[in-house]
Amino acid sequence: MTRADLLRKVLWAAIYLLFILAPLLALLTGTLPPSRDFWTEFSVALGYTGLAMMGLQFGLTARFRYVTDPWGEDVIYHFHRRVSLLAVSLVVVHPAILLATGSDKMAPPASLAEVPMGAVFAVLSLGALLLLVVMALWRTRLKISYELWHATHILLALAAVGGGLLHMVGWGFYLADPAKRALWIGMALFWIALLAYVRIVKPLFMLRRPYRIAEVRAERGDTTTLVMRPEGHAGFRFRPGQFRWLTLWGSPFKITGHPFSFSSTAEAPDGRVEMTIRNLGDFTAGIAKVPVGRRVYLDGPYGAFTIGNPADMHVLIAGGIGITPMMSMIRTLADRGDKRPLVLLYGSRDWESVTFREELESLKARLALTVVHVLSEPPPGWTGEQGRITADVFRRHLPPPHAEHEYFICGPDVMMDAIEAALGEMKVPLAKYHSERYSFV
Ligand SMILES: Cc1cc2nc3c(=O)[nH]c(=O)nc-3n(C[C@H](O)[C@H](O)[C@H](O)COP(=O)(O)OP(=O)(O)OC[C@H]3O[C@@H](n4cnc5c(N)ncnc54)[C@H](O)[C@@H]3O)c2cc1C
Repeated sequence: MTRADLLRKVLWAAIYLLFILAPLLALLTGTLPPSRDFWTEFSVALGYTGLAMMGLQFGLTARFRYVTDPWGEDVIYHFHRRVSLLAVSLVVVHPAILLATGSDKMAPPASLAEVPMGAVFAVLSLGALLLLVVMALWRTRLKISYELWHATHILLALAAVGGGLLHMVGWGFYLADPAKRALWIGMALFWIALLAYVRIVKPLFMLRRPYRIAEVRAERGDTTTLVMRPEGHAGFRFRPGQFRWLTLWGSPFKITGHPFSFSSTAEAPDGRVEMTIRNLGDFTAGIAKVPVGRRVYLDGPYGAFTIGNPADMHVLIAGGIGITPMMSMIRTLADRGDKRPLVLLYGSRDWESVTFREELESLKARLALTVVHVLSEPPPGWTGEQGRITADVFRRHLPPPHAEHEYFICGPDVMMDAIEAALGEMKVPLAKYHSERYSFV
């Protein structure tokens, strides 16, 4: 990690804390309402903090490259999930404390007509939040399609945050002061602006910079490469290992793009980019039939998974379709005439399904590249590595000292977990390994 990246991390973390804590502290300045008992005040503070955290979630998923670059999108999404759980806990504990301490705010009203609007919005907000968490945690178990889940997730988030704000304003205890009310309304407008940026401004940019499918190429392993050329613009620069969100069918305003790494060189002179996609579900099943000439949209590039210090040996560890970012790195280094030592440990099911097998062989002539195939179902007579990529495979193929190489890992989660554990056992420092998880959403 560079010094600039570290500074950016510290800066964004400080801004994040400021956005969460400043509105809470501002409530304690100026004219104060009469003080109440400790538990009431404490529960209210939890409610305000939970709401501020929930509102900022729109910022975490807005994919601001300047913010996400030092960490990588997967880390940001991981943080988004963890913070959601914390924010939801705070919001749930807020009424629970009032209930447990017998606050008169929780006393049942004499009739439905007397239920204050603030309470109605609180119930709406809490209900939306709990549903949102259940759907996020158990999406696959509940067999909810990604697309349906994504649309519902946004609507529930809006209902939760909107309901929470109306609850606060409706109750009005701290927000009776117009300046404080203006502060919270300003924050709400900021959150809405973040959402508008993602759903309106970004798609408008994408609309102005479309791509055309120039070629659809079948690859080994039920996999297809889409070659895309910029239409009416020069394209963009990316770092090998990065990815973009692809909108293939329909306009960029469509809610769900799909993330794919670039598999092509970052040095293409005409702005051409390639994505290599394995048939793994309903969207990816249609890739082989994409018509040449189709207009598509790309959002990005994103990601911190990219090659670094040229002096060190680079060990690329790929499982299955996790080969795509590695291929971009290898092709780019070949085009740059970069002779750093490279070892590719590449796990596949069988020999016939090894995507890019022939090209990898020919690229050896242009690079200091060693390719080690590890097959889980090797053909008869196979003398190479078989089974899984383990610490033993590292020891057999990587020259010591192992802790000094740079490791790049991309593949199925189980494989990545096992490799990260093996690198830990081999005392490889955390800063030396880099990973991209395809399951981060
Ligand atoms: C950073 C990144 C880079 C990737 N690069 C590649 C690549 O180079 N080649 C490749 O073949 N695959 C890549 N993937 C995986 C690819 O995005 C998914 O396989 C694909 O979106 C699945 O879509 P589906 O509808 O065919 O499958 P489904 O069976 O519908 O979905 C399978 C799983 O994929 C995820 N998924 C589905 N739709 C989306 C979406 N719109 N956005 C995010 N996640 C979704 C969900 O976790 C879902 O449970 C990458 C993923 C990530 C996160």
